[in-house]
Amino acid sequence: MKVLKFGGTSVGSAKNINKVISILENYGKIDTVICVVSAVGGITDKLLLAGKQAQNKDQAFLETFKGIQDRHFDIIKALNPENNEGILNYADEKLDSLKSLLEGIFLINELSPKTSDKLVSYGELLSSFIIAETIKNRGLSAERKNSQELIVTNSNFTKAEVDYNITDKNFQDYFKSAPQTITILPGFISKSKAGEQTTLGRGGSDFTAAIIAAALKVSQLEIWTDVSGMYTTNPKLVKQAYPIDKISYQEAMELSHFGAKVLYPPTVQPVLNLGIPIHIKNTLEPEAEGTIISNDKTNSVAPVKGISNISNIALLTLEGSGMVGIPGFSKRLFETLSQEKINIIMITQASSEHSICLGIEEKDAENAKVVIDEEFENEIALNKIEPIIIETGLSIIALVGDNMKNHQGISGKMFSSLGKNNVNVRAIAQGASEKNITAVIAENDIKKALNTLHEQFFETNTKQLNVFITGVGNVGERLVEQIHQQKKFLKENLKIKMRVIGLSNSRKMLFKEDGIDLTNWKAQLEKDAEPATLQSFFEKTKSLNLRNSIFVDVTANKDVADLYAQYLRESIGVVACNKIACSSDFENYKLLKRLSLKYSAPLLFETNVGAGLPIIDTLNNLIASGDKVNSIQAVLSGSLNFVFNNFNDTTKFYDVVKQAGAEGYTEPDPRIDLSGVDVARKILILARESGVEMNLEDIENKSFLSEAGLKSDTVADFYETLIKDEDHYQALYASAKANNCQLKYVASFDNGKASVSLQEIPEGHPFYNLEGSDNIVMFYTQRYPKQPMIIKGAGAGADVTASGLFADIIRVGNN
Ligand code: ADP
Ligand code: ASP
Ligand code: MG
Repeated sequence: MKVLKFGGTSVGSAKNINKVISILENYGKIDTVICVVSAVGGITDKLLLAGKQAQNKDQAFLETFKGIQDRHFDIIKALNPENNEGILNYADEKLDSLKSLLEGIFLINELSPKTSDKLVSYGELLSSFIIAETIKNRGLSAERKNSQELIVTNSNFTKAEVDYNITDKNFQDYFKSAPQTITILPGFISKSKAGEQTTLGRGGSDFTAAIIAAALKVSQLEIWTDVSGMYTTNPKLVKQAYPIDKISYQEAMELSHFGAKVLYPPTVQPVLNLGIPIHIKNTLEPEAEGTIISNDKTNSVAPVKGISNISNIALLTLEGSGMVGIPGFSKRLFETLSQEKINIIMITQASSEHSICLGIEEKDAENAKVVIDEEFENEIALNKIEPIIIETGLSIIALVGDNMKNHQGISGKMFSSLGKNNVNVRAIAQGASEKNITAVIAENDIKKALNTLHEQFFETNTKQLNVFITGVGNVGERLVEQIHQQKKFLKENLKIKMRVIGLSNSRKMLFKEDGIDLTNWKAQLEKDAEPATLQSFFEKTKSLNLRNSIFVDVTANKDVADLYAQYLRESIGVVACNKIACSSDFENYKLLKRLSLKYSAPLLFETNVGAGLPIIDTLNNLIASGDKVNSIQAVLSGSLNFVFNNFNDTTKFYDVVKQAGAEGYTEPDPRIDLSGVDVARKILILARESGVEMNLEDIENKSFLSEAGLKSDTVADFYETLIKDEDHYQALYASAKANNCQLKYVASFDNGKASVSLQEIPEGHPFYNLEGSDNIVMFYTQRYPKQPMIIKGAGAGADVTASGLFADIIRVGNN
């Protein structure tokens, strides 16, 4: 004898009911089968909605009723194109009496829990009858037996308690002589001793099946649903969740208590002592293994088995010095709530007894406040305790596992990974048996929190990075392409799953929560994108609230740099090739560094100096390992290198600068490069990263430009001066040539002072042979006092800059 239960989705359409029938048919070939069914998916909710509408004198209840009626007739006809009068007549009759009940509620304007139970019973009564008759029509030996005739409860409507003595006996008696192979029973519904219709609580069909399995002491209970077992966490919220193959009764109970809806929490109770395993299976994918819930000692010993969550939670806090050391406080509090049938989901009490914090369902919050404030009226009047505080908009998240007690550091990991992702924890509870660790967080953090914890405990080897890129010009475009190309490699070799979630240029932005398809992002940015502002890009990034989010600034825009603080405050890491923030006022630089630490959000800007060359990273490593920088000598401008490598007595300065611009080596305004400001910013950043407090004004800048060049107002004027002042520039070249030197634009940091200037570099000096747009940095430090550490290579260009950004993004991922 086998007991199977099929849930709402499993019996939610003719197509699915056919799947159910074929499963039953197969089982029926070898054994007698007892099958509990839910109402057609969504019908219980619709019945309650119609009831509420009728109670509120809202005529819309008729429309809702019509929907319920049509849904059933459609299913009956699809399942039984012929020979369907019997079923249709039964359904007609039932639906008529349902309609009369709704009209009654409409008339008297009242919907008591008792009437509500009567109302929802129609769902399971209809589904069980339709399914049983359809099976009979197919020539199988089947019968519907109404569970209301067998399950006897008290009169606690909407969540009645079972009288097991009578109920067990009823089942044993009935099945002793039931001749049919397949028995279909409605789940969820029952009757009180006085004969009133009752129900076992929402989701209660699972429980019905467990009651029967225990009464008949069968060898296995199967719960067939719409997912392939009990998952590591809610599969609707975490894509990477996967089915747990084996789990203990206690773990299953904890998970379901804390919101894993796949199993109604009381279900375990009747079968637990008898050791009857519960097998969770997927009707839509019957070949999937599913989950076995049992006492099997070979269950895996992983400390954390699953993570679950409950939404719509309110936190009640009762506080006051008058509570300390006075016995009976908690008792009164709990009794008050129990009298109101308010379910307490979690409790925390500080050992000082100064406050008690309770998690309850949000819908009960107002009522709870009224009754508790009433109960403690005297104490409140005497200022011994405060009126109760209620916070709403919260969720509970729970880590569950029998073996957590044998492992240290689980809660440490849990809270630090939540903290790193800016998930604020409002309250914490840990069961004394350590089978769960529970935290209360904001409702809108739930998806991020579940994904973060799932990654932490179940995908220990992989990490998902969610990237948001502003600026898709030359460099940005290369970056996106590199990410696209490397996706597979990153996943397989570094266990990093990198997704670009947001992209924007100065006009438009594109967001895809599951990651933008990078094969045709440009077309999407043209077609699907919405108008963008820097602030709206930030707001959208923030509202998606994804874990391991990284903002990438591929602009040279001050307004973008001004937003870093906002990103960091949301624990969103920032990667920038934009130099403005790190070369801005020292206070701002310091603030960003502080925010980065405070919110555990990395701020990386390797490409600010030398494009993709590992200059800042190397410097940071030197400092972190205790080295001290004595001096830095560097050639850091690809543009100025290009200019002075091509300028000589056969070329004209104007032509060379023009060419540098045309080939993309200078900024559109070449003065930014030629004035030395760009290089000054770079040496400033290196000085700051070496630990020195410095501002741009502190850097000595001996310009090589002519007087007129320095004073020019516009780019066009500036170019004019280059023509006029050719002699000035030729003189610089001639002097260098006479001294057998090369002209290089050098940045230097020495003894706490920094300067930038054009210098004549003699043969044999490491700078002398610098070619093309190469950069070179020499670090003289305590460990490298005479022979400097030298980093040299291409220091400009879209590809190397993009790869530098890419490396920073991966660094954030490894953080
Ligand atoms: P049924 O109607 O078959 O009883 P339910 O809707 O009551 O089905 O329960 C199945 C649903 O439970 C799944 O579709 C899924 O959305 C939800 N769920 C929440 N947490 C979990 C979990 N940890 N494992 C599996 N399903 C879960
Ligand atoms: N139909 C009931 C509900 O939706 C019982 C169940 O499906 O388990 O709550
Ligand atoms: Mg269910």
